[in-house]
Amino acid sequence: MIHIYTGNGKGKTTAALGLIIRALGNQKRVCLIQFMKKNFAYGEIKFLSQQRNIDIFQFGTDKLIDPENPAKIDFEEAEKAYQKAEQVIKSNKYDLVVIDEINVAIAWKLLPKEKQFYLMELKSDAEIVMTGRYASKEAIEKADLVTEMREIKHYFQKGVQARKGIEF
Ligand code: ATP
Ligand code: MG
Repeated sequence: MIHIYTGNGKGKTTAALGLIIRALGNQKRVCLIQFMKKNFAYGEIKFLSQQRNIDIFQFGTDKLIDPENPAKIDFEEAEKAYQKAEQVIKSNKYDLVVIDEINVAIAWKLLPKEKQFYLMELKSDAEIVMTGRYASKEAIEKADLVTEMREIKHYFQKGVQARKGIEF
């Protein structure tokens, strides 16, 4: 089954991480691939990288991407993340494959949308989760489960920045 967690509210990556914990608790094999993130200091990564049965691959840089004008390396890293996702899904080695922020990579045109569709159409027994804002209409149509996190309120609006242990 293919899940999409999208929308402008907080909780997309967190929901995927929750599913990872559930799968690991049931001795499932998990792969987490992250677009546009290069930081093993995130709390979730520090924790998960110590667990058995999970492989984690991050692609991107530690710099913010300008969606209007991404750097050459941002395209290269997105392509590498895609290649990894394709290889991982085709390997049939995992029960759960989470591809974090792929929807944003597509929306910002770091990756052609056809590549996401290709991943969705691969024959696989793995549960596949794709996260990130701005999931396209076509991706939503192809998925089996789509959840939209809708912002009703977010403390960012009153100036609260990302906090260790809560946002990362
Ligand atoms: P989380 O990782 O906390 O589950 P997310 O994956 O839903 O959040 P992203 O769209 O990936 O959110 O956002 C990246 C960062 O912005 C995260 O630190 C996230 O907590 C924060 N964030 C999420 N939603 C909002 C919002 N509506 N306003 C401001 N910041 C947000
Ligand atoms: Mg996220």
